[in-house]
Amino acid sequence: VTVDADVVIIGAGGAGITAAIEAKNQGAEKVAVIEKMDITGGNTRMSGGEFAAPGNWIQIKEGITDDSVDQYYEDILKGGYNLANPKLVRIIAEQALPTAVWLRDEIGVKFRDNQSWYGGHAVARTLWPEGDGPAYVDTLEAKARQLGAEFYLQTEATSLLTDESGKIAGVKAVHKSGTEYTFNASSGVIVATGGFGANVEMREEYNTLWPTLDESIPTTNSPAITGDGIRMALDAGANVVGMDKIQLYPVNNPATGNYYYIDYARLNSTALLVNKEGHRFVNEKGTRDVISDATLKQTDSMVYEIIDADVVAEQKLYEEYQAEIDQCLKKGVLAIGTLDEVCAHFDVPAEEVKKSIERYNSLVESGEDTDFGRTDNFNKIGDGPYFMFSSVVSVHHTMGGLEIDELARVIDKNGDAIPGLYAAGEVTGGIHGGNRLGSVAVPDTAIFGRIAAESCVKQK
Ligand code: ADP
Repeated sequence: VTVDADVVIIGAGGAGITAAIEAKNQGAEKVAVIEKMDITGGNTRMSGGEFAAPGNWIQIKEGITDDSVDQYYEDILKGGYNLANPKLVRIIAEQALPTAVWLRDEIGVKFRDNQSWYGGHAVARTLWPEGDGPAYVDTLEAKARQLGAEFYLQTEATSLLTDESGKIAGVKAVHKSGTEYTFNASSGVIVATGGFGANVEMREEYNTLWPTLDESIPTTNSPAITGDGIRMALDAGANVVGMDKIQLYPVNNPATGNYYYIDYARLNSTALLVNKEGHRFVNEKGTRDVISDATLKQTDSMVYEIIDADVVAEQKLYEEYQAEIDQCLKKGVLAIGTLDEVCAHFDVPAEEVKKSIERYNSLVESGEDTDFGRTDNFNKIGDGPYFMFSSVVSVHHTMGGLEIDELARVIDKNGDAIPGLYAAGEVTGGIHGGNRLGSVAVPDTAIFGRIAAESCVKQK
């Protein structure tokens, strides 16, 4: 089957669908979006849809006046260990608020009337859509379809096509049924296939930061996130940057590899992490990479989170997450009861856990965590019944990827833009440097998705 289009987009996640909307708005007549799964959304659908924007309307309502584009820029750069491309970070910082307003007013994304304060951000600036990632993606998709973008689901892009002049002119793809497709792109191709968190081979090939990222380490990603766009663009001569910068998420359900909602107790309040020997091993409020690194050094890379009854109540865990609690109890990854009971469930020595809690509580009394330097929510662990759940690290985000310039053009190994080839979202590198801050991924997809579309339609 041959499809003639102006703009061909590979991947219907956050970046791809935003690019489709913008391509239509920029006047492209025919926009084709190729998606290998039977549902759109990728990792964006699996996320909370969090969107950090400085100077946003909730900040104004809450009287937060000490935020700025410059502060956001500094936070992203510093959060990424100063390894990001400052020019790309500047674009995120400047475009975040106008893009959030565009999503709200033009696209119909409904943001909640409260916001969050994410780690690494100097102030609370994270907007959060109603219905999380699923509603966010569905709203984008409805808009893209309304504007006339065409979606080809269950269709996997396999390679990029180049014309005689060297311009990227289309995409080869194959439908689940085996039918082969050729998509011709008169304006250009936008790669929006996400990262490679679910591709064990690529993780192993590029990893230098962690002891291993083999199949023993699960991922929070959609199984579709296998670096296809990176491979296709590499074959077309693209350059990649920061490929070894792979972010692990520290506290995940061993049964699914994905995060626990009940871990909000640790993030927002007081919880302890202990190892198989029943000992604390890290500042529970540390950054993702610090806790992940420490977890990988524990016996079997398996640790346990403990929450007391007061925090369970204060964080409304039963009210908010009953379904997850039931699931986890069924899978045996969560135990609820006295310390003796929950420790017995996981075969962790209760006597050692009791000593660890006593030691921790005495440190709280002394006012200083001389063991691990914890300062946030440095409160005592009280009485049961306790929640105790097992936890492993998971691959969460790949910061590296295709090198792009400020117009989202893919750059080749000589530093030149590859004609007709654009990229946006997690498939690109250089925006988050060595570490991505929470709630900056969705802004990245929306901002660079739009830039890629405009550049492609105007053939910049
Ligand atoms: P981003 O956040 O960068 O937009 P997402 O993970 O949200 O990335 O979306 C990436 C999308 O690309 C997913 O829906 C995924 O299924 C799709 N995808 C990945 N590889 C291919 C491929 N080879 N062909 C078509 N779609 C792909």
